[in-house]
Amino acid sequence: MTQLAGKVALVTGGSRGIGAAIARHLAAQGADVALTYRSGAQEAKSVVAEIESLGRRALAIQADSADAAQVRAAVDRSAAEFGRLDVLVNNAGIFPAKPFEEFTVEEIDNALHIHARAAFVAAQAAVAHMSEGGRIISIGSNLSERAIFDGLALYNLSKSALNGFTKALARELGPRGITVNLVQPGPTDTEMNPAGGGHASVQLGFNALGRFGSAEDIATAVTYLAGPGGRSISGATLTVDGGTNA
Ligand code: NDP
Repeated sequence: MTQLAGKVALVTGGSRGIGAAIARHLAAQGADVALTYRSGAQEAKSVVAEIESLGRRALAIQADSADAAQVRAAVDRSAAEFGRLDVLVNNAGIFPAKPFEEFTVEEIDNALHIHARAAFVAAQAAVAHMSEGGRIISIGSNLSERAIFDGLALYNLSKSALNGFTKALARELGPRGITVNLVQPGPTDTEMNPAGGGHASVQLGFNALGRFGSAEDIATAVTYLAGPGGRSISGATLTVDGGTNA
C-alpha cells in the first residue's frame, strides 16, 4: 500500500466529507498530506491526527477558497513544509441551491470563486512546485451534465467551469508530464448531501444502483488517478455517481 510513497499531496476542503476521505486514502498509499479548511479547525485537526497515526506527515491550513491569495499561500506553504508537491486535489465546495432569480451577485461571485477561480489559482501555484508525474485532480459534479432537480443554476455554472478547464489544462501541461483530470461525484453521503436529506429521494430515483455512494468511493477514484495507474489518463472525466446520469 505504498504507491504514493515519497509523494506530497494537497487537498482543499480536507476537513470533512469527501476531502477528508481523499486525504486519508492518499496517506494510506504513502503520501504526506496537507489539507485546507475554512472554519472546521477541530475536524481538520482530527484528520491530521489520523494521517499522522499512519506514520505520514500531515498539515492543516486555514485557507478560504473564496480568497485567491489564501489559496496560493496554502499551496506554497504545503510545498515549503514538505519540500515538494506532487498531487493537487481541488475539492473544497459549497452547495448553493435555490431559484436562480434569487441569487445575489455576491452569492454568484462566491460560488464562482470557490469552485472555479480557486481551482485555477491553485493549479497555477502548484505547477511552480510540480515536476514530471504531477497530478491535478478537481472534484466536479455529475449534476453539471444532468440537472436532475431545480435550483442548480449557480452550482452548475460554477462546477461546469471545471469540465472545460480540465481539458484545456491537460493539453497545456501534458508536455511537462503533469496529468489533469476531473472526478464527478454523484449522490455521496456527506454533510453536504446526506443520504437521508431533502434532496435524497429525487437523486435515488435516477440512481441505477439505488443507493448513495460513500466518500470512500470518491477517494478510491482520486487515489487511482493520483497513483501510477493514472499515468496515461489526462483530460478525462470520471463520473462516480452510481449510474445517476446513465
Ligand atoms: P462537505 O460539505 O461535507 O465538506 C466540504 C469541505 O469543503 C469541508 O472540508 C469544508 O471545510 C470545505 N470548504 C467549504 N467551503 C470552503 C471554503 N470557502 N474554503 C475552504 N474550504 C471550504 O461536502 P462534500 O464532502 O460532500 O463535498 C466535497 C466536494 O464534492 C465539493 O466540491 C462538492 O461540490 C462535491 N460534490 C459532492 C457531492 C455529494 O453528493 N456530497 C456530489 C457532487 C459533488 P469547512 O468545514 O472548514 O468549511
